[in-house]
Amino acid sequence: MSRYSEFHARSLQQPEAFWREQSELIEWKSPVDRVLDASRPPFARWFPGASTNLCYNAIDRHLPSRADQPALIYVSTETGTEKTYSFAELHREVNRFAAVLLALGVLRGDRVLVYMPMIPEAVFAMLACARIGAIHSVVFGGFASHSLATRIDDARPKVIVSADAGSRSGKAVPYKMLLDQAIELASFAPEHVLMVNRGLAPMALAPGRDVDFAVERRKQWDSKVECAWLESNEPSYILYTSGTTGRPKGVQRDTGGYAVALAASMKHVFGGEAGETYFSTSDIGWVVGHSYIVYGPLLAGMATIVYEGTPIRPDGAIWWRIVEQYRVNVMFSAPTAIRVLKKQDPALLRRHDLSSLKALFLAGEPLDEPTAHWISEGIGKPVVDNYWQTETGWPIIATPRGVEALPAKFGSPGVPCYGYDVRLFDETTGAEVGSNAKGVVAIVGPLPPGCMSTIWGDDERFVSTYWHSVPGRSVYSTFDWGIRDNDGYYFILGRTDDVINVAGHRLGTREIEESISSHPGVAEVAVVGIADALKGQVAIAFAVVRNPAEVADPAARAQMEGEILKLVDSQLGAVARPSRVHFVAGLPKTRSGKLLRRTIQAICEGRDAGDLTTIEDPTALEQVRLALGGRP
Ligand code: AMP
Repeated sequence: MSRYSEFHARSLQQPEAFWREQSELIEWKSPVDRVLDASRPPFARWFPGASTNLCYNAIDRHLPSRADQPALIYVSTETGTEKTYSFAELHREVNRFAAVLLALGVLRGDRVLVYMPMIPEAVFAMLACARIGAIHSVVFGGFASHSLATRIDDARPKVIVSADAGSRSGKAVPYKMLLDQAIELASFAPEHVLMVNRGLAPMALAPGRDVDFAVERRKQWDSKVECAWLESNEPSYILYTSGTTGRPKGVQRDTGGYAVALAASMKHVFGGEAGETYFSTSDIGWVVGHSYIVYGPLLAGMATIVYEGTPIRPDGAIWWRIVEQYRVNVMFSAPTAIRVLKKQDPALLRRHDLSSLKALFLAGEPLDEPTAHWISEGIGKPVVDNYWQTETGWPIIATPRGVEALPAKFGSPGVPCYGYDVRLFDETTGAEVGSNAKGVVAIVGPLPPGCMSTIWGDDERFVSTYWHSVPGRSVYSTFDWGIRDNDGYYFILGRTDDVINVAGHRLGTREIEESISSHPGVAEVAVVGIADALKGQVAIAFAVVRNPAEVADPAARAQMEGEILKLVDSQLGAVARPSRVHFVAGLPKTRSGKLLRRTIQAICEGRDAGDLTTIEDPTALEQVRLALGGRP
């Protein structure tokens, strides 16, 4: 048995002893007594009764040994700003932010929605929430009013923290108007909106409701805020993610289990050490941003880089310039971003001194072999694929290099991480499938520390969505297809549901369909994700209009398509915008009226459309083919 297989086996056979050891990687206010309460499966309560605080572990704990060392390094190529905050400075800013939240009436357990671009204040806001025991819910800045409104209604935040604008490729992207629209659309009203003014776009403050952060911060200049000691299972945050319905799911994370899982992953998976520097190119709006921009690196005593900008401005060497300048040791990105770099001059990969860098981790979508080869040869460093989801908070499958240097296999993220009992099951019979056969990737409970505790406000949906989808079994479904080879390496083959992955961003096709259907001219619509060389997948819509005259000629079609895309932009955000809208007279459905999304997808990708015996109207398929320009 290899060192790693022993490590993994022990984590499953003696979970209490294993996780008790890992729990020593963080500091507790009241010590860990019980490790796991699994008395109410599938709910798992890790370290019940013990208390801790994420912000304390991320900042205060490091003050005696590294107060003056860098904690947060901010680089914005959008505004030309670079600023380093030491642990002591970060501590001061987070105390001020926490005092501002307290002054606005935020109490332990209250929700604070964070709708922010990549600026240090976004991180201060998250850590300030953690400090006082408020539950943050970060909404990606690329989402628009309708997406925001759904999340406001679900999370019911007492305060929303936002900024006048983000910036993309040198252009200001105003946030405040979208936020005001969202608050108007929502049925729940926050008490206050705390605005950070970057001076990028005009922002009107609603009297009594909106407050200017700069003014409040000055009032709290010397304020000190004690950490709230939370029971390990009290929620730290909610992060919404797309599923198969139009209603996003609020993934709820605990406090103690998450802190332990991240600290352990830093050691065993990412090999990051205190005093080193971590650079994740993600955004705080995604789970990678939560785990590996904010909490993971800081818990480990590392400096974290918060980057606002694209991978190619001012040129395709910007990331490597950052690696050289800040002596980055561990880097984390997504395959899409690497595919963007592939279009640049490969010499840019060698322009800077990358000697500090130990490895580049990639996740969020399948890592294709050519991209993996290109980047690992280009930078001369190990490239480590890892597979996980918003729900799990940290890798499910990887090659945990901190335990053993397992060989990498191109196309595979690796082997199950410690704590995860990963299996493959047949989708229809529920039978476990062996090596080299395709099955649904599932995890036998209890889920390890750090994974979602439930869906915010909806335990029932958590159980029915995740734990009842493999027939006859109560196992956690990832909703991904996978296959395992004879060496125990997994290969991920795509989603089993209608969730698509565009440039590493997870989108529900139903959400996009609902948005398009709200156009008065649209009678019906199907949205599918199809393979794309750059983004992994892109969304394509097939719409049936109420009045065919509205799409009778190319100019009319272009106008209608433009209107629909604008609508999606304004409701969901540009991230969800389909790359094309095709107009058809009918959509392929089963006789019972179910939309055949996978059949449409197969036709779009030029694949065999499969068994068509249940189709109601076969001419609808012809319609799809014709709309695609007669391609098969
Ligand atoms: P998200 O919750 O947005 O992080 O999306 C999670 C989904 O992205 C997973 O369920 C997979 O479908 C996909 N995914 C994430 N990482 C990988 C990877 N390394 N290889 C293949 N697919 C991945």
